Amino acid sequence: LDAPLYADVGGALEVSFEFFPPKTDKMEEQLWGAVRTLEPLAPRFVSVTYGAGGSTRERTHATVARIQRDTSLAAAAHLTCVEATRDEVDQVAREYWAAGVRHIVALRGDMPTAGATFAPHPGGYENAAALVAGLKRLHPFEISVAAYPECHPDSADDAADLDNLKRKMDAGATRAITQFFHEPDTFFRYRDRLAAAGIDAEIVPGIMPVANFASVVRMSAMCGTDVPAWMARLFDGLDDRPAARQLVAATIAAELSRKLYAGGVKQLHFYTLNRAELAYAICHLLGVRATSVATEAAA
Ligand code: FAD
Repeated sequence: LDAPLYADVGGALEVSFEFFPPKTDKMEEQLWGAVRTLEPLAPRFVSVTYGAGGSTRERTHATVARIQRDTSLAAAAHLTCVEATRDEVDQVAREYWAAGVRHIVALRGDMPTAGATFAPHPGGYENAAALVAGLKRLHPFEISVAAYPECHPDSADDAADLDNLKRKMDAGATRAITQFFHEPDTFFRYRDRLAAAGIDAEIVPGIMPVANFASVVRMSAMCGTDVPAWMARLFDGLDDRPAARQLVAATIAAELSRKLYAGGVKQLHFYTLNRAELAYAICHLLGVRATSVATEAAA
């Protein structure tokens, strides 16, 4: 892991970006600014999240369809099966196919009440593996699923968690994108466990730049992600210094990414939270540059 700091790895490293659907006109403007800023970096795909229990069904669809139609980017739509019948989920998927969207990030989702135990909808897909199989029956979608380097909270143990991932891959998923994590070794240990379990699918680390430390601590607690003590120390005293916080966030995320790359990772997925500059700066530090083809397409 002794790679030079911010090595120029451009060309070898492929990136993808995740956005969330906007709620207001102002957020819409921010999202499209982010999409247009990141487009020249020629990501493999960009994905748009699906609000809890389908609460953003229309907004996610509108955003994904517009990216697919109006940009040079390949758009992927997140889709959850919680709180929905199979027919409802299938209908959403059919609308994506009709809009030219070929890539779905297939997820179980969580119950609308925070902390409630998951219960499948009586007429719905029981989990992400069943959803993947259902989507594959509808159309030959490219499908990404979620993976958990620190184990999903509903999994009894690491072995059960890997079995669940294997079921999703066997049902027809192409790749898994991980929940965010903060230490490179967390990913490398997970990769070792995957190899030992005979899972050789593409597993793309999900990178969450820590723009707001307090909210990342909250999210980490919800999904069982460890927050290292050094991270708290780095953000200590920066509450009133947003610009300094951004610089620190970019540095930490670029450092994590660089170590992953040095350990053989060739694809990274960035949770952008619709903030382009942070993701752009991190990619720049990693040597990912605007391509002239993508720049012309974005113009
Ligand atoms: P699964 O892989 O189906 O299961 C996860 C765990 O739950 C496993 O341990 C499994 O054994 C257990 N389980 C599955 N089904 C059942 C069942 N019927 N009864 C009991 N236990 C069961 N959420 C959103 O709402 N919208 C998004 O757009 C979104 N995007 C995400 C993107 C990524 C990359 C990641 C990592 C997560 C995302 N999530 C999103 C969060 C995700 O919905 C939650 O983590 C959810 O708790 C699990 O979803 P899954 O697809 O991993 O579930």
